[in-house]
Order: sequence, then structure tokens, then C-alpha cells
Amino acid sequence: MAGVDFVDVRKSFGAFPVIKGVNIEIEDGEFVILVGPSGCGKSTLLRMLAGLENITAGEIRIGNRVVNRLPPKDRDIAMVFQNYALYPHMTVADNMAFSLMLAGKPKEERDKRVGVAAEILGLAKLLDRYPRQLSGGQRQRVAMGRAIVRDPQVFLFDEPLSNLDAKLRVAMRAEIKELHQRLKTTTVYVTHDQIEAMTMADKIVVMHDGIVEQIGAPLDLYDNPANLFVAGFIGSPAMNMIKGRLDANDPNRFLTADGTALPVARPAAAARGRDLVYGLRPEYIALDPNGLPAEVVVIEPTGYETQMIARLGGNEVTCVFRERVNAKPGETIRLSIDAAHVHLFDADSGRRLF
Ligand code: ATP
Repeated sequence: MAGVDFVDVRKSFGAFPVIKGVNIEIEDGEFVILVGPSGCGKSTLLRMLAGLENITAGEIRIGNRVVNRLPPKDRDIAMVFQNYALYPHMTVADNMAFSLMLAGKPKEERDKRVGVAAEILGLAKLLDRYPRQLSGGQRQRVAMGRAIVRDPQVFLFDEPLSNLDAKLRVAMRAEIKELHQRLKTTTVYVTHDQIEAMTMADKIVVMHDGIVEQIGAPLDLYDNPANLFVAGFIGSPAMNMIKGRLDANDPNRFLTADGTALPVARPAAAARGRDLVYGLRPEYIALDPNGLPAEVVVIEPTGYETQMIARLGGNEVTCVFRERVNAKPGETIRLSIDAAHVHLFDADSGRRLF
């Protein structure tokens, strides 16, 4: 096994820079997810690691080897693609054994490795089938099996679950995570789905427009986003973001454009006299008879919790209550805010001030 390092990696297509100096350290055995909106450059970064795309500048290391100029086959990686890329005319067993055959491994060893991988993935009974005779989830497992048999130093996954329906996606998420816990192979996984990233990763790399916005453990990013981009991207439903300023006479009050006062627990000196964004996660709003008046706009019971959009002063806020709520659109309710969990961001730079 081996760690992976990106050192000031850059990539331009013609004159158009798409990766603008990326540094990421991935430790041996870590499960790292690159996440970000469409076009942010995450697939390009993964393809450069795989050797499918040249690097314009910088260095990529696998273990202690600089791999910038190594062809894909010499990098000791295995990649699982979004479309699985199975050979339709080959059985499951042959699909899984194919790369070992190309590498000149004897039949006995091929059979053994395919057998072990099939056992791990629950494919043992399907080895004689063809891809067209498999469900989407089974095909996905065969694609993973093909990677496992090679026993690589690093697994790469490029949006491997995006062709599956919602339920299967959740099941496969757990399977991939379990697989990683079992094999402990360094894994770099690309997705645009922040829930996938939150639930599976040891470490998340949030990308945006060719740069890394923040790197951290999932809950660390959730609790301590570095800036507005990360705060808005991580978490579902998304963080409420309300514009305003601290009250010049009382820095424990945040005043929105319409004059509504919201509580602030830790008014950082840096926040005074600036245009700010008040960042409030939906679960830190509670129903409270002594709270601020708000009007119900939309109410969505999901069974175990209730989501609501409420109009609080001039702003609509999303709330999540861990209870059933009896209220109708148009009704007035009262809400309190857990100020200890509020963040303030600089409106100009987007940087979190606390
Ligand atoms: P998605 O989730 O949509 O796949 P992504 O974050 O993986 O997005 P990339 O596929 O890495 O994004 O693309 C990053 C940028 O590079 C995009 O603006 C894309 O249009 C551009 N790009 C990618 N491949 C090429 C190419 N071969 N030639 C020119 N531009 C490219």
C-alpha cells in the first residue's frame, strides 16, 4: 500500500486552466473523497493520478515515486468507472480475470484471486453470467471485483454510484465502505454528492473552480467550514445564510436588512462594522413559545422529522425539527436559535470569522 501526494498540481486545456495549484496529502490506507460541483476539476485530478491525463505542472507521488511520466499500467492503481466498462462478451469471471491475463499470471493464480474477490463481493454464484444478465448493483460489484483482483496500491473511483437508483446507491455506499475497512487499500473517490462524501470518507477534499477550498474529516467540515462555499456545499438541507451586520451598540445582536435581531454568542472583534453573512444550520432552530415570531411557508413531514420553511422577518429559513409539528402554511409560530452554533462569515471574502 502507499499514500498519494499532489504537490502544486496544475492543468490547463489549451490556454484554459482547470486545475490551479492543488496540494493534497493522502495517507496510506486512507479513504479520501474529492467532492465539488460539476466542472470543478475533480475528475481531471483523478484522471491525472491514473495517468489518463498529462500534468501541466507540479508533481504527483504514489508512495515515494513521482509518477508524472509513468504510463497508467505502471502506477499500480486500479480504477472503477461510472459506466463500469465491462466487456459484454465476457463472463463475470473472465471480466474479473482479464487484467491478470494481460499481466501474464498463470490460470491457477487467476482463478484463486477471482475466487477470493467474488467471495468478498457476493458474486460467487454469478461468475458464469454475462454483464447483460446482471442488475446494476451486480455490475457495479463486478467492476469493483476487477479492481480488487489486481491488489493495487491505490483504488480510484470515478462517480461509481451515479448510474444506480437511490436505494441501491445507499446500499452500495455501505458496501464500498465495508470493503475499504476490510482491505484498507488507499482509496481516492470522486463524487459531486456531498452525502456520499460525508458518509464514506475518512477525509474530504472540497473543490471549486480548480482549487481546493478545504480538506478535513467530514464532521469537521460540517462544524467548521472555512468559508461560505464549503458551508453551503456540505450539509443537507443547506445552511441558512442571512445577510446583515452586528448591532453597533450590542455585538451580541445580528441585524438583518429588515432590522430583525438574531442572537450571536461569540461576537468576534473582526466581525464588527463589516457586511456579514449569518450562517445557521436548519437543526439549530427550535420551536419555542418564547422565541421570535415567524410564519410557516412550507411544512414537510418525513415521519421521523419535520422540515419547514418559515419566514423570519424578511428572510425565509429552512428548519429541521426532530419531532412532528402540527402547523399549517400561513400560521404564526415562534422560533429560537441556538446561538452557540451560529457562524459569521465575511460577506466580501466569504471567510468564516467564527
Ligand atoms: P463533473 O462532475 O461534471 O464530471 P468535474 O468536476 O469532474 O465535473 P472535470 O471533468 O474535471 O470536472 O472538468 C473540469 C473542467 O475542465 C471543465 O470546465 C471541463 O469543461 C474542462 N475539461 C475537461 N476535460 C477537458 C478536455 N479534454 N478539453 C478541454 N476542457 C476539458
